Amino acid sequence: MGAAVQPDSGFMEKILFLAHTEPDGGLAQAALEALHGAKALCDELKGASLEAGLVGAQTQPAADTVGGIGVARVFVVTGGEFAAARYASDAVAAEAIARTTGATIVVAAATSRWNRVLPAVACRLGGRADAHVAGVQVRAGALTVSRWYYRQRMEARLSRAQRPWFLLLDPGGQPPWQGTPTPTNVEALTVPVPESCRRTQVTGIRAPATYTQTIRPDAELLFVAGAGWTKKQGDGQTHGADAERLILEFLRLSRASLGSSKSLVDLSGEGQTVLSFLSHLNQVGQTGSTPRHPKGLATCCHGEEPHTVGWRFVGQRRAINLDPNCGWARGKADVLYAADAFAVMARVNSLLGAGGR
Ligand SMILES: Cc1cc2nc3c(=O)[nH]c(=O)nc-3n(C[C@H](O)[C@H](O)[C@H](O)COP(=O)(O)OP(=O)(O)OC[C@H]3O[C@@H](n4cnc5c(N)ncnc54)[C@H](O)[C@@H]3O)c2cc1C
Repeated sequence: MGAAVQPDSGFMEKILFLAHTEPDGGLAQAALEALHGAKALCDELKGASLEAGLVGAQTQPAADTVGGIGVARVFVVTGGEFAAARYASDAVAAEAIARTTGATIVVAAATSRWNRVLPAVACRLGGRADAHVAGVQVRAGALTVSRWYYRQRMEARLSRAQRPWFLLLDPGGQPPWQGTPTPTNVEALTVPVPESCRRTQVTGIRAPATYTQTIRPDAELLFVAGAGWTKKQGDGQTHGADAERLILEFLRLSRASLGSSKSLVDLSGEGQTVLSFLSHLNQVGQTGSTPRHPKGLATCCHGEEPHTVGWRFVGQRRAINLDPNCGWARGKADVLYAADAFAVMARVNSLLGAGGR
């Protein structure tokens, strides 16, 4: 099925928006963003058409949402077998939809579920896939996508002649589609569930309660804890239990996302009791994550380059450090409070607890 195209030879793209639905049959934020991206692409590419494909236990609410955008046809693979993320069933569903539509461009959200399935589906169809797409542009009638390399140090723009081309759009790069849902007729595809699915049965979902979930990508504020929380303080003692209580209390009151320096998560990884709720997933920096929060507050963290490089997409940066010559003071933060973070956070918590935010 796959083929190379000459984009400037009057060739018209057939765009397919592909989504897996939520338990209520609707679309998650990341899928709504991908829908917005697919619609924008269709509007920009001359002569392009837009269809939708939906996979899940329920699909009608999502179909009504995509119907509101004016897609030509909506294909669905519906049923309990397609409710949970499972490679074999997701792959056959996506493949059936892509083959039926004959899409040349498939736009989907770069969810963990699609990221592990759609590159293989592209392969089955003789096409290509690009995951973690940060943006989609049309220049002189030709489609290019942008994506990051080397931990977001280099941005590349690339185009491909091979079709179908699967584009997995990273969440956060597009505004979500916000139109009014419209009752929409769907075309149901019957997809036999492969025998291999019997080997993987989803018996339930175990997830941490939201209050123990400390990584919150949608949070307004990133709160970073550094190794200073575990160091001897002015009285010659460590105060790990106080640190843990102050940080957890602040997260509960502010709903901030918790980041960490490498030094601190390394300590936790060694089984030390201090800040037991931290793992390497919290680590921000060169060998950690590069989160995108509007604001950030670093506490008891020195602000060395391998750490602050992970702050490059944080809008407004503040830090609390006893040392007025710490790394944050050297152009890394907008505001540095030269102060004791234990005292500052105790005061902040009492103000937040008193009702203010
Ligand atoms: C190849 C490489 C990759 C790396 N990748 C990363 C990475 O991805 N992320 C990362 O974070 N690091 C990374 N590092 C490590 C980085 O260089 C630093 O060692 C680390 O960030 C230091 O962590 P810290 O600031 O928490 O600890 P420290 O350097 O120990 O600083 C603790 C700070 O706490 C302050 N403090 C102590 N008590 C208080 C108090 N009561 N109130 C206020 N302030 C207080 C101190 O003044 C001090 O500045 C990397 C290093 C290398 C070589």
